[in-house]
Amino acid sequence: MATILVIEDNPANMKLAVMVLGTAGHGAITATDAEAGLTMARDRRPDLILMDVQLPGMDGLTATGILKAARETRGIPVIAMTALAMAGDEERILAAGFDGYVAKPLDYRSLLATITTHLAAAPAGGTAWPPS
Ligand code: MN
Repeated sequence: MATILVIEDNPANMKLAVMVLGTAGHGAITATDAEAGLTMARDRRPDLILMDVQLPGMDGLTATGILKAARETRGIPVIAMTALAMAGDEERILAAGFDGYVAKPLDYRSLLATITTHLAAAPAGGTAWPPS
């Protein structure tokens, strides 16, 4: 079982993500804005973060940049959840520091597959990531 932080301001998407995680046997911790999510990431060191791109206040791109700039959180895989579907968005999302992304509307199977892939690739606990 992994602990996964979900940062999402839309109640329906949050509910779905938490339900998917629970069904897969993972524990979910949640935040509805980037500032609260950053604090939770530092304090709880989740194994993976699902990050909405469009958040009130600080957006998910900026928040992910902050996570990836800090040694204590840079090893945590961060998956973008984004409704953006235009060509070039994947490049923009990966350039912002995200490890991957899932498209909205969220699909149960693709969300779970993406989480499983990134958990398998990450070091246990999401910490002590060696400098690359
Ligand atoms: Mn949003």
